[in-house]
Amino acid sequence: MNDQGRYQRQENSFSHERRTQTFIAEVGGEHARLTSTLLKTGAAAAGVAEVWSDFHGSGGHERHWLLGNHEALIRTVNPDVTYDFLDPEFLREDLEGVVGRHDNSWVVAHANDPAGAARALEQLRDLRVRVLLTLAATGGVIVQRHPDPASALERLDTLGQRRAIPAGSADLGAVAAGMALNEIILGGTSIGDDLDTPRTVGFYSLSRRRRIDMPGAATFEELIAELASPLERATFSGRRLKQVGAGALGNWTAIAVALDGRVAMDVIDGDQEVQPHNLNRQVLLVRGLGRRKAPVLTEELESLDQEGSYAHVDRFVELSSDLEPLGGVDAVIMAPDNDAARLLGADVAWRWAVPYGVGGTGVTGGQLVIQEPARACFRCITRLTDEAASQREPAGGNSCARANNESIVASNMVVAGLLVSELREALAGRRSRNLRFFGNGGGSGNRLGRMTSDPECSHLADVASRTESCSLEV
Ligand SMILES: [Zn+2]
Repeated sequence: MNDQGRYQRQENSFSHERRTQTFIAEVGGEHARLTSTLLKTGAAAAGVAEVWSDFHGSGGHERHWLLGNHEALIRTVNPDVTYDFLDPEFLREDLEGVVGRHDNSWVVAHANDPAGAARALEQLRDLRVRVLLTLAATGGVIVQRHPDPASALERLDTLGQRRAIPAGSADLGAVAAGMALNEIILGGTSIGDDLDTPRTVGFYSLSRRRRIDMPGAATFEELIAELASPLERATFSGRRLKQVGAGALGNWTAIAVALDGRVAMDVIDGDQEVQPHNLNRQVLLVRGLGRRKAPVLTEELESLDQEGSYAHVDRFVELSSDLEPLGGVDAVIMAPDNDAARLLGADVAWRWAVPYGVGGTGVTGGQLVIQEPARACFRCITRLTDEAASQREPAGGNSCARANNESIVASNMVVAGLLVSELREALAGRRSRNLRFFGNGGGSGNRLGRMTSDPECSHLADVASRTESCSLEV
């Protein structure tokens, strides 16, 4: 496959020059298996030249490639990418040469095993390589970018001999992996984003009402302790979902949900065949070139979650009846490429009182909104109107013909992970939050931002009288 095909949709954001100069060394993946797996999947899709790791996944030919050996995983996602094993005892020797050959070299160190990560970085102390200190724990995610191993070690050393921190669920792994990969792709490319200064590029804490505010006074140790606090999360296991969209965002929401296991999901998408230029981000479709997306996605999901049940509906969502009925459905995930479908889905989910998670990504960022049955509706949260939606882009039709936009895999990973995580909160009966991701923002802080979650909503008064047949007036 030629470059113009696979990398066409990311060329302005992750140029051929930067891509072929990019190297990732991952340490501590054993203690962050899902994050490690999703990082490699995303990095391979984006065409990172070389990925080396001290964790190689699991064996077993009967397993789906996402759950198997990582050398095979990377070969499946993108044979252009070189994968190699890192020997934890000889990191310095292993990495010196390869780092010297790549201008854009990064170490991703999973902080789930702080002592192990510190031992690894100690070996690399005088190597000229940037470091992403990454943690997806049960209570949230932190990703810190450091100019060199010594800077990262300063933070890790504050954790002392802290014991291993249990890894979070797949959605949080996708957020952490996506935020780390985003730095590798875009870090330092925008004005004011200084790679020589340590920056906490990602912070997402489920125990904070707003999720993303980082108190300046909090130490790294305190933030880690907060994220490591155990949190009972809702599972998608045994639940029934409908998902609209089998594109980039939909691939990653489906992965984050299906990895819970024993999920029932209908995937609704009328988009055309899988094209080469989809493969830089639509990772579950890599074996489906030339076939229609929805059936390929459900086949992969069936193989990934063999105790689950997945079905596809090969059409665009243009009428309520394309999504209804929602009886017995626990949640709807909306990952289409147009606002008309988002509005239509919101109205249907509102009538049926089903939690509704909506996401959208642009070139290097995106946002997510959760509409809960007894809280403000999607229309009031977004102020989106039918007129605006229809002017911007008509529903239906092939997405690639309509939107010639660039899109990188990292923002889809982050937004999908957050969407699934916030949907979990809604299903657990806790308040979900709506968030934004600015993957290419300058400045010095968190790339996650908040958006309105609880505006005035006049439709709430109608909830009590809501029936399956009523129509929403706006
Ligand atoms: Zn409303």
